[in-house]
Amino acid sequence: MIERQAVIRMQEGLHARPAAELAKLAKTYESTLEIVKDGQTASAKSTVKIMLLGVKEGETITIRANGSDEAQALESLIKLVSDEHGQSSPPSPPAAAKTQPKSASDLLPLGSHVARIQGVAGGDGVAIGPVFTYFAQTIHPNRPRLAVDDVPAALARLHLALADVAGSLEPAPQADEETRAIVEALRDMLADPEIIADIEQRIRDRADPVTAVLESGAALASRFAAMESEYFQTRAEDMAALARRLAESLLGIPPADFSRMKTPSVIAAGTLSALDFAKLDLAHVLGLVICEGGPTSHIAIMARAHGIPAVVGVEHGADVLKAARMLAVNGTEGYAVADPDEVTTTLFADRITREQEMQNALIAFRDIHPRMKSGRAIEVAANIGSLAEVESAIRHGAMGVGLFRTEFLFMQRKTLPTEDEQYAVYSKAAEAFGGQPVVIRTLDVGGDKPIAGIDVPQEDNPFLGWRGIRMCLDKPELFNPQLRALLRAAAHGNVKIMFPMISVLEELTAAKALLRECATALLREGKSIGKPEIGVMIETPAAVMCAGEIAAEADFFSIGTNDLTQYTMAADRGHPKLASLNRADQPAVLRMIELACKEAIAKGKWVGVCGEAAGTPALIPLLLSFGVSELSMSPALIPRAKKIVTEC
Ligand code: PEP
Ligand code: MG
Repeated sequence: MIERQAVIRMQEGLHARPAAELAKLAKTYESTLEIVKDGQTASAKSTVKIMLLGVKEGETITIRANGSDEAQALESLIKLVSDEHGQSSPPSPPAAAKTQPKSASDLLPLGSHVARIQGVAGGDGVAIGPVFTYFAQTIHPNRPRLAVDDVPAALARLHLALADVAGSLEPAPQADEETRAIVEALRDMLADPEIIADIEQRIRDRADPVTAVLESGAALASRFAAMESEYFQTRAEDMAALARRLAESLLGIPPADFSRMKTPSVIAAGTLSALDFAKLDLAHVLGLVICEGGPTSHIAIMARAHGIPAVVGVEHGADVLKAARMLAVNGTEGYAVADPDEVTTTLFADRITREQEMQNALIAFRDIHPRMKSGRAIEVAANIGSLAEVESAIRHGAMGVGLFRTEFLFMQRKTLPTEDEQYAVYSKAAEAFGGQPVVIRTLDVGGDKPIAGIDVPQEDNPFLGWRGIRMCLDKPELFNPQLRALLRAAAHGNVKIMFPMISVLEELTAAKALLRECATALLREGKSIGKPEIGVMIETPAAVMCAGEIAAEADFFSIGTNDLTQYTMAADRGHPKLASLNRADQPAVLRMIELACKEAIAKGKWVGVCGEAAGTPALIPLLLSFGVSELSMSPALIPRAKKIVTEC
């Protein structure tokens, strides 16, 4: 058995989606994997149990592994939780505080003949439209106890219902990545072995299946509800929604049918789960007014993510909502108006027009190619780790990819990816961005993040060890397939190849020589290849001090401020006690960046930044003043960065 501590870097901690990702990864290993926090232990293969630990960003957990693949499992789990670029986006912050009115005078005025249906702000914006109501029937759990002989049939019914609900957990065809990921997390909760075992036990104890699922769901829901964080408290809803769907399936009650909503409408519902939301054709949803839910409920998170005005937590409005024909929704201030009069309708229509104008301005901004006041054009690109992130990058206005971390392709598997598998991924990324640049970094792994298929000896200082380009140059059987895949993918778009962890010129010249050999071999084999630019990641002080010589041999630099900071400051980037040293705005680090830029620009080479500093508002003006011409960051940060560029 081995164990290690890790600081959670996933934004907002182990909420539903990261927990599901973690459990999914854990399940790919045979070893028993556990997470320990404050003396509480949970199976790392159970999404729900991980969530119940309530781990927040910045907190330390211990991961324990026991089994044949324990070392590998431990490393990949640690990597996932410690990576702030993790593949999940956090839930949006609660909007209630921001959007709740402070006094009556803050409210949008209404006509004198209407009353507010008060709720909580669930998604900014205002809307008005015809109502589509959805109030599901109440299911009561108190049913007669089973006869012993009926238990096997009841267990079989449970499994049919589980399969039925799992099969119906399909997002709408037009659902985006975010929605799909939430559905995936819910599906994972439904398949959670510990939840199923709990329901089965209740049936063996002779509860009928409907009672068993509702009581098991309620028990887990109340554990979530008792948690400290409001976000986890609202996961209680997801549990209750899943349990309800199972009970409906057991009773033959069909799930909500939103396909009847043929015209754009405001949905008024008693409860609307994330499962229901995923099935909606959002083009038809003008707004939401929901009796249940809080500002961090999944429904509110999803409404906000899609810009749908929503009011949730309407405790005393069900009857009015059921009878209404038109609804005006003020999701910013948290109320709705049933059958608004003419004055109210005009007030809402004016507000909708104004908000639309503001929204348009933002959209137009997101799609711009930003220029500084001097007229200098700056490219704002995305950091991605997989093809799954391409859509989000494009949606946020990425002008290409400034860093494709390829190690994820290698880490979540049991064998090395083949040249063809890699070629398929890299060429898809290149095609997705048309002619825009896609900078793909060659494998950057080492003793701190081992991968299946490569033997990495135990090292005392893995961050100073046999990693990145050092390992790749020693292992042509690992490096060549990637270089070949990259050269072939370069025929499909504007691929640029970037080498990580360069500390001496010879590493770059050796890598370029290998690349030339691969190109010659591919041409001999009759394969099409492109002519990618070759870049160097500037992550070590050694590379900065020799930047002139290195720049002479490279087409571009991309400054990896995360590692450059840790190596310059001699401060482990994951060490919670060293956070104040581990800052890219430390003078020593800024001077390193400035020097690297100066040397590259003097040789006529362009410089990008792909570490966290690139998306940090306070650092963007400084980086641009050093001559940086490309900033690459998490997709969600792109629109703001573009705005800052135009203000510099
Ligand atoms: C960096 O070091 O700044 C960087 C972008 O690479 P990574 O975070 O993957 O080490
Ligand atoms: Mg790095």
